[in-house]
Amino acid sequence: MSASAIDLRSDTLTRPADAMRRAMAAAEVGDDVFGEDPTVRRLEEEAAERLGKEDALFVASGRMANLVAVFAHGAADAPVALGATSHLNTVEAAGIDRIARIERVPVEEKGAAPVADSLRAALEGGARLAAFENTHNGAGGRILRPEEAEPLAALAREAKVPTHLDGARVFNAAVALGAGAATLAAPFDSACFCLSKGLGAPVGSVLTGTREFIDRAREARQHVGGAMRQAGVLAACGLHALEHHVERIAEDHASARRFAEIICEAPGVRLDPPEVETNMVYVVYERGGRDSAWLQKELAKRGVLAFEKDGRIRFVTHLDVTREDVERAARVLVETASS
Ligand SMILES: *Cc1c(COP(=O)(O)O)cnc(C)c1O
Repeated sequence: MSASAIDLRSDTLTRPADAMRRAMAAAEVGDDVFGEDPTVRRLEEEAAERLGKEDALFVASGRMANLVAVFAHGAADAPVALGATSHLNTVEAAGIDRIARIERVPVEEKGAAPVADSLRAALEGGARLAAFENTHNGAGGRILRPEEAEPLAALAREAKVPTHLDGARVFNAAVALGAGAATLAAPFDSACFCLSKGLGAPVGSVLTGTREFIDRAREARQHVGGAMRQAGVLAACGLHALEHHVERIAEDHASARRFAEIICEAPGVRLDPPEVETNMVYVVYERGGRDSAWLQKELAKRGVLAFEKDGRIRFVTHLDVTREDVERAARVLVETASS
């Protein structure tokens, strides 16, 4: 990997720039476990407002937000219904199995949305929590639209089952739709988002919900070892990100679309899914015995980094790659695929 590699492996790769570091340095702090860190409190208030919920809790990561949500919904002894290809049911499965120790009931999905009949069956089968994801990473950064989400959330409501939104990239969905994040979180009882992905902060996620829910989540966070002390230095990055890095996500989406446009005509290249809705482009490559794994390795040698998994290569645009970088990466891909 050369120093000038164009790194499209993930939107978690961004580094805090000078203005964000200055916000860290200037942050007023206190012991957050005593409820005395004013910067953490400000971030939690800002996040709650943006997601249209009563209260919020700053946590170390998206996984911790999801795990703590499972506990705080009181689902610790009962099955949870979740999308079969969701982050929760794949990457986070071990945490749910070994820490929460609850059964996962995978629900069939179409695009970013659980299939209604499959969700209904999970609820009838005794699921006590239903989880959703927006944008849906495994589905290629696709958006779960409010009009799709609402009837599904209603099924859970009718069964008196609470709902949780893993909104790691909900701001990508919001910006792409030109809606507020609150609109996308509205169907769900709780929702979390990552500050450390498209928003460009180095660390952190925020979980939002009712005041009572957040009280329980705060307790659960302590049980899983997630209580932080003078965390205001990190919360300051989150506040800076919410203030300065939300609208600009549109540039990442435009770059991803441009990338897809350039590469889609290359021989052996197929976009999967064909639509690029946010900041991710998934590619399948098959040509003359060469596959996606081959292409990913060749690209790395030529300074374009991406992830390959299960026959698909994922390219993610973010704050630290320019439109020019992305266009250059796309041209390298076209050359390599054609070689
Ligand atoms: C990244 C991600 C998470 C977990 O976030 P971490 O901060 O890496 O723990 C959860 N859900 C989705 C959809 C993600 O993409």
